[in-house]
Amino acid sequence: MHYFTIKDNRLWAEEVLVEDIVKEYGTPIYIYSARTLKRHYHAFDSAFYAIPHIICFSVKCNSNIHVLKTLKEEGAGADIVSGGELYRALRAEIDPQKIVFSGVGKQEHEIKEGLFADILMFNVESLDELMKINEIALSLNKKARISFRINPDVDPKTHPYISTGLKENKFGIDINDAIYAYKSAKELKGVEPIGIDCHIGSQLTEITPFLDALEKLKILYSELKEIGINIKYLDLGGGLGIQYKEEEPPHPKEFGEALSKSLTGYPLTLILEPGRVIAGNAGVLVTKVIYTKETENKNFLIVDAGMNDLIRPALYGSYHRISEVTPKGRPPKKYDVVGPICESGDFLAKDRELPEIHAGELLCVFSAGAYGFVMSSQYNSRPRAAEVMVSGDSFYLIRERETYRDLTYLEEKINF
Ligand SMILES: *Cc1c(COP(=O)(O)O)cnc(C)c1O
Repeated sequence: MHYFTIKDNRLWAEEVLVEDIVKEYGTPIYIYSARTLKRHYHAFDSAFYAIPHIICFSVKCNSNIHVLKTLKEEGAGADIVSGGELYRALRAEIDPQKIVFSGVGKQEHEIKEGLFADILMFNVESLDELMKINEIALSLNKKARISFRINPDVDPKTHPYISTGLKENKFGIDINDAIYAYKSAKELKGVEPIGIDCHIGSQLTEITPFLDALEKLKILYSELKEIGINIKYLDLGGGLGIQYKEEEPPHPKEFGEALSKSLTGYPLTLILEPGRVIAGNAGVLVTKVIYTKETENKNFLIVDAGMNDLIRPALYGSYHRISEVTPKGRPPKKYDVVGPICESGDFLAKDRELPEIHAGELLCVFSAGAYGFVMSSQYNSRPRAAEVMVSGDSFYLIRERETYRDLTYLEEKINF
């Protein structure tokens, strides 16, 4: 459920006309709905009411500090994967005791930053990293709380690029090596193993892979207990899917109930790292048709948003629903919706049936709130889009549109 709806032949974001936002701030533009963000957060959070839990929003899917602040005010923590994301989370005043640090390649300075901020824990992905964290913590006279990211070898049945919990993936520690890893950690004075972590992939549309992973982690939990290692946190990562097209992902309620049931009686705090399921359908990208072009085989809509603004279709072949911002009721026609970038991969949709569209009209690309703006670039020297937050009947800029000056700013600091 989201609050982007067509009423009276106009697209509304909550109680704001999308056309009005465009009039003020132009296109391409990302628009988020605060009410949707909050609704999704609460649907997810309340699904786990029966057990102790912390919801750590996955900052990588949408790291705008105003989005983070909106979620923080509802109680969210953060799952971060870099020092930059830690910086953002702290700028948004997220409680460090609700921050977990994931990622295979944490650098020395990032580990230090996490220790200085006193985050809840580091999700460690290799023994090398364990040694590094231990060494840094000791040098700072600190103790790092850690969990190991375990690769449970379950198939999440999602796109290979966003599948992370199979044996062949680069992520985590093989579950068969887990006991050895925890024993090693226990010997070290600079770290304290308090959690077990896993994240098996993204855009999962079934609960079973999560439950399969959880079963494996529960066995590990018991084995660790037997050897005197007391785990307090179980982090099951993110990955719950959303509806882009015809997917039918489980409702968070169903997800929460299944996990809570499986964990009943375990004295553990469950950590979850949802990203897409909170932000994905809470944002859209609005773009203007610059030209239409008809060839023998294809009808093209050439729009002012390119793969530099939204790379998901080019990168994963993802489907994003597209609609007119001001429906005109014209007969349908098949289009490729393409951007201005000099790459054939630069498309937002292929062979898409839309009502006939004319140059100058606006299109709305749905489900763009996660892995949208954060993956944007300045490729082809295109300033990044603006971002706007809508709340009720008001809207405000949460990131200015970049300018040409932003393109060369860091270069002009150097004399030439
Ligand atoms: C990407 C990622 C998430 C969030 O995934 P979603 O599919 O957006 O929920 C959570 N945890 C880790 C470690 C990740 O890499």
